[in-house]
Amino acid sequence: MFDRIKAALSSLTAGLTQRTLGDEELDELLGQFEVSLLESDVAREVVANIVSKLKEDLAGLRIHRSVDSRSYVRIKLSESIHALIANKATPNVLELIKSKRSSGEPFVIVFLGINGTGKTTTIAKFAQMLKNHGYSVVLACADTHRAGAIEQLAEHASRLSVKIVSQKYGADPAAVARDAVLHARTQHLDVVLVDTAGRMQTYRNLMEEMSKIIRVAKPDLKIFVGDALAGNDAVSQAKEFLSFTDFDGAILTKSDADVKGGAALSIAYATGKPILFLGVGQTYQDLVPFDPDVFLDSLFSEA
Ligand code: GDP
Repeated sequence: MFDRIKAALSSLTAGLTQRTLGDEELDELLGQFEVSLLESDVAREVVANIVSKLKEDLAGLRIHRSVDSRSYVRIKLSESIHALIANKATPNVLELIKSKRSSGEPFVIVFLGINGTGKTTTIAKFAQMLKNHGYSVVLACADTHRAGAIEQLAEHASRLSVKIVSQKYGADPAAVARDAVLHARTQHLDVVLVDTAGRMQTYRNLMEEMSKIIRVAKPDLKIFVGDALAGNDAVSQAKEFLSFTDFDGAILTKSDADVKGGAALSIAYATGKPILFLGVGQTYQDLVPFDPDVFLDSLFSEA
């Protein structure tokens, strides 16, 4: 995972610390670093932020000649990346569910994102995780547009042995979400996971539909699902969804196949919302909590 961004960090630290650099050499090295970050799908604004902070820090390095420059550069880089991804209050989903359940009401999560990102699979993984923690789950198929969407979710529900609430294609998705919440309430189920459409005639229609589902289902949590492999497209999608839905956090799928590693940084920075989980494979167990410290350790593991 993330090999390209790791390589960029590694060659920068090596370049900075193996020799004393003149201003021109330093600019060239930082220029190369900028290009490598952009090639790793780190969004332009994030690259600008990291590089300008690094320039300030390097001025510090020239003053403190006595410090070990290699670890200094590593610490400073890791500090600025940490500030980008970790400076956000990350909700503890399991704690939130526990606290809502103590009031007797079901906990409702709406999943948002365009088709093909892995949203449905992520919902199934999420259901598995909740089951592992002893919670009962109902899935709501509020994608009533895409042919096959209901069958796909029903297949997951049957494999996971959880209940699904759906209606016919063309039905009102907000009504499906509301039915699922009522079902959970009467059956004393813990969590409702709402799958939503990922494509409609226009983006605006899609966003209006999402807004309506949110108004009706009143979710406790709205989670954007983005595809790590979609790079900067995932960032623009996240921004678009954020402006209409004000989601609470994101899940990045397909991180197992992501050699670049820029999407996590970029989405966290561009939306100001935390990354909650990473999808790391195609089985139900392949959903792991996103931990900024573990992410950073993995980026610097060979640097
Ligand atoms: P949806 O259209 O957003 O609901 O996408 P699906 O859930 O149907 O997933 C699309 C494809 O992505 C499927 O082949 C999934 O198995 C695959 N997928 C989903 N999450 C991951 C992941 O974390 N890693 C990998 N490698 N594949 C994934």
